[in-house]
Amino acid sequence: MSRRTPASWSTLCLGLLAALACSAGEAPPAIDLLVVNANVVTLDAARPSAEALAVGGDRIVWLGSTQEARQRWPEEAALNLAGATLIPGIIDAHTHLLSLGESYIKINLRDLPDESAIVERIRQAAATTPPGEWILGWGWDEGKWAARYPTNAALSAATPDHPVFLVGLHGFAGWANARALELAGVAQDTADPPKGQIVRDPATGLPTGILTNRAQELVTRHLPPLTPEQTQRAIELAAQECVKHGLTSVHEAKVSAPMIEAYRALLRENRLPLRISVMLDGADRALVDEWLARGPEVDPAHRLHIRSVKLFADGALGSRGAALLEPYSDEPGSRGLFTTPGEAVYDITRRSLERGFQVATHAIGDAANRAVLDAYERALGEANASDARLRIEHAQVVAAEDIPRFAKLGVIASMQPPHATSDMPWAEQRVGATRIQGAYAWRSMLASGAHVPLSSDFPGETLDPFHGIYAAVTRQAPDGTPAGGWRPEQRLTLDEALRGYTREAAYAEFEERDKGSLETGKLADFLVLSADITQLAPPQLLELRVLRTYVGGKLVFESDGQVSPTR
Ligand SMILES: [Zn+2]
Repeated sequence: MSRRTPASWSTLCLGLLAALACSAGEAPPAIDLLVVNANVVTLDAARPSAEALAVGGDRIVWLGSTQEARQRWPEEAALNLAGATLIPGIIDAHTHLLSLGESYIKINLRDLPDESAIVERIRQAAATTPPGEWILGWGWDEGKWAARYPTNAALSAATPDHPVFLVGLHGFAGWANARALELAGVAQDTADPPKGQIVRDPATGLPTGILTNRAQELVTRHLPPLTPEQTQRAIELAAQECVKHGLTSVHEAKVSAPMIEAYRALLRENRLPLRISVMLDGADRALVDEWLARGPEVDPAHRLHIRSVKLFADGALGSRGAALLEPYSDEPGSRGLFTTPGEAVYDITRRSLERGFQVATHAIGDAANRAVLDAYERALGEANASDARLRIEHAQVVAAEDIPRFAKLGVIASMQPPHATSDMPWAEQRVGATRIQGAYAWRSMLASGAHVPLSSDFPGETLDPFHGIYAAVTRQAPDGTPAGGWRPEQRLTLDEALRGYTREAAYAEFEERDKGSLETGKLADFLVLSADITQLAPPQLLELRVLRTYVGGKLVFESDGQVSPTR
């Protein structure tokens, strides 16, 4: 199909005057793509369904019935979906593209069952790696293994000639062999850094090789950095995986200057198939100061928005790094730890708001969530920001009295359904029977009136959004356990879950006028699915496949031969 009118048509027609000129009686506009015989789920309350959809430029210019479409554009070759379901593109509100991409470059340990399997995999890698070169792996589960971390004894014996560093699935702990500790200068007398722990053998006091939170930096600062080409390649591989699973936009949660350079290069070379809203790494003061001085970058093409700052208030619940108001139920001596104190959250938030930036702060524990809400409240009171949309990432364990504060302050609760079903085997042990009621509490959060965008937080969790939707509507693991769901009173409906991955996520990046539903004038980001998502029993969601992914009206992914367009 070729374009027959100037590229400005779709933007013109969005204007009021042009909209009048385009109304009934005029010849229908030339278009770039016409889809007919589809089951279009629009997520637009004013028109929940349609059969046909027309795209001009990168926008939806018309929705209606197949019959109307044929009458309006009798000459136009149409994509006939033969009844297949079409939904808005998924917007994943919290992702780590580069980490996912790095995992394609690093040795993947994710599905290995135990320590000996991991040691064996690394031993094999060492056999083909020149002595002295780093061996990097990713994906052992520091949450699941927190009860009994491995030591590096077997790992070091298998790899005497190579430094080895294996990052945990969620990035909250790393596992170094003896050679890596030696290169990093980590020894018995090395003090724990302020925001992390060098795990030690209780008998000898010697480091075991496990480094939690910021203690990992003792080793990672000695790693050779990725080259710009490696960074681009990793992001490109991850983005391809995203569109294959129906993600048309992502919110990148912690972005460095080299990552921004990589996105720009990929966009220039047309190698980035999806849209990105980035959260600048708030721990990098130079980066934050530079961007606050120059102001936000809002992309008129909606490909790369830079208007948000990411902070970390605490660690993770699995490794007991989340900051709690009262001690851990399974470790009475510990309340976890703050990684950014409330005062600093307040200071950066006020400055960010004054410069037109959003702030998104990672907060897992109830103490961290309260401190961030307090900091946000104070900053909102002082900065003159009309549309702040401050976010808390995860909002995982929230005290009952703090839940209503999200809606009251307009703070977005950016939550991850897969975290609940991954953490449910041990989460209650950490926080006990009372605090668990405010944990992973999507339903309570929605009922309080808060915006609740949903996300995967990949690569710690699967990026498949239908697995996330399954977790949201069932609160069960993929094997269907526990029967009836874990704390089922917090389940969402399918509609709520879908909205979380589309409209709510669009709101969280100031994009609700352009994305999140299928309406005339919005960006033509949509998916063709292997089944009607609205008619499936929950376990069937796990089998749902994306057949085609469109971003801005352009086909960016097509599975092999399952939809054959007829003309
Ligand atoms: Zn994250």
